[in-house]
Amino acid sequence: MANADDFSGKSPHVAVLPGAGMGHLTPALRLAAMLSSRGCLVTLIAVKPTVSAAESTTISNFFSTYPHINRLDFEILPRKPPSSTNDDPFFIQFEAISRSVVHLLKPLLLSSSPPLSAIFSDFTVSMTLTPILEELCIPNYVLSVTCARFLSLLAYLPYLINENSPKFSESDDYVHIPGLSPLPLSTIPPPFFNPTLFFTSFAISNALFLPKAKGILVNTFERFEPDTLAALNNGRVLSNLPPVHPIGPLEPYKLEKGEQLSWLDDQSVISVVYVCFGNRTAMSKDQIRELGDGLERSGCPFLWVLKSSKVDKEDTEEIEDLLGDSFLERIKNRGIVVKAWVNQEQILAHPAIGGFVSHAGWNSVMEAARYGVPLLAWPLHGDQRVISEVVENAGFGVWVRDWGWGGERVVKGEEIGEKVKQLMSDEKLRNRAMEVEEEARKAFQDANGSSEKALMGIIETLRLAE
Ligand code: UDP
Ligand code: UDP
Ligand code: UDP
Repeated sequence: MANADDFSGKSPHVAVLPGAGMGHLTPALRLAAMLSSRGCLVTLIAVKPTVSAAESTTISNFFSTYPHINRLDFEILPRKPPSSTNDDPFFIQFEAISRSVVHLLKPLLLSSSPPLSAIFSDFTVSMTLTPILEELCIPNYVLSVTCARFLSLLAYLPYLINENSPKFSESDDYVHIPGLSPLPLSTIPPPFFNPTLFFTSFAISNALFLPKAKGILVNTFERFEPDTLAALNNGRVLSNLPPVHPIGPLEPYKLEKGEQLSWLDDQSVISVVYVCFGNRTAMSKDQIRELGDGLERSGCPFLWVLKSSKVDKEDTEEIEDLLGDSFLERIKNRGIVVKAWVNQEQILAHPAIGGFVSHAGWNSVMEAARYGVPLLAWPLHGDQRVISEVVENAGFGVWVRDWGWGGERVVKGEEIGEKVKQLMSDEKLRNRAMEVEEEARKAFQDANGSSEKALMGIIETLRLAE
């Protein structure tokens, strides 16, 4: 284990505290690697146990790849049993991490050597971490794993939902947030209509602490969400927010070569559609069969990452049982179905990939932007509709609005096949995706790239405070 004591010089010592699930862990690890390669001493706080196998494997691979990043194990308190308002394993973990921060984190932070210059923490610990850091006089930078637009909604949520009743009602058409174009009510996550749900009350509790942060880091870039970033930074969304720094698309860190790459090597350039719904979004068996049918009908080669259970360790169903042997036989020269963790970043970077059918998780969207891959957004939960709107406005993706929230309806194979065909043949979308890729590249092109400058500005502030 590397120790931050081994380092010399006046580098700021920063800790990174990720939230639960790969969608929170991945950006935190990327940020840790980026801070480390830009002259910071970095301690990664490794939450134990994790929910998914993907998280624990990723954490151990990360430390072997970056032996100079210090590891601080954070054994959390037992998770509470599911209740009716809180039965999602990742939400249960959010709650357990948050509670453990109160009881267990302070001594760990105090024993950090050299003393910490700052913490970069997940939004989901803001409520419990902020008082501790205030006491220890350690600045907190919140890492937002969603887009600037949804971050604005989160920050404003305490003022939208008052005294257990939402200020917006299901009969309105739009939700109005100062400084932002109105959000169609249909894009608001359904749980936000019920303030007693864990998802909502937890979001509000943490949002109330955003003003106390030293800064908010967002995995987005200036040219991607210019108006929203301006509204956040000129005090229009809320007058008391700290600076919001766009530092994306976060750079991928070193990964082992994924198994699917040799299959992709044999496919023609921009011919393959990649299908993946993130690390925790499972589909019903009926929907899985229709999606298979749709991919077959599209006539395109495909690489499909299949999930039938929210937590990977419980995802034991065989591909053959979900899709049937005859389907697999018919598509065997044209597509591959994987029921395992893939290296998505490398897949999206591969020249054979021509389109991405995605649930529009924000990390996936930023990865698609980074590699210029057009998107067919199929938002299913949470922030994904707001994100789909952002993608559509940026012009490099489409979104079929009547496919419903996750589980609302079974979308038929005919429809899916048609949309996939359109995605793969839409030249305008592809050209725009290439422009977005170029803009994303410029954000890190040199010291003047908007994201590079934002990140270096924070590091410089910490260095000067040493
Ligand atoms: N991912 C991956 N392999 C998989 C599934 C997901 O590498 O098999 C990565 C993906 O590249 C992204 C993250 O996991 O970085 C998922 O985050 P996102 O915000 O897209 O969605 P979430 O999983 O949080 O819903
Ligand atoms: N605030 C804001 N927009 C709002 C409500 C609040 O920017 O819609 C900011 C404002 O700067 C205020 C702070 O949040 O000072 C706390 O507001 P709150 O209403 O919670 O407390 P109060 O200031 O009324 O005690
Ligand atoms: N505020 C703001 N932006 C808003 C609404 C309110 O900055 O869109 C500020 C406002 O200037 C005041 C504080 O937030 O200082 C509390 O606002 P509000 O009128 O909502 O007070 P409350 O009704 O919560 O007492």
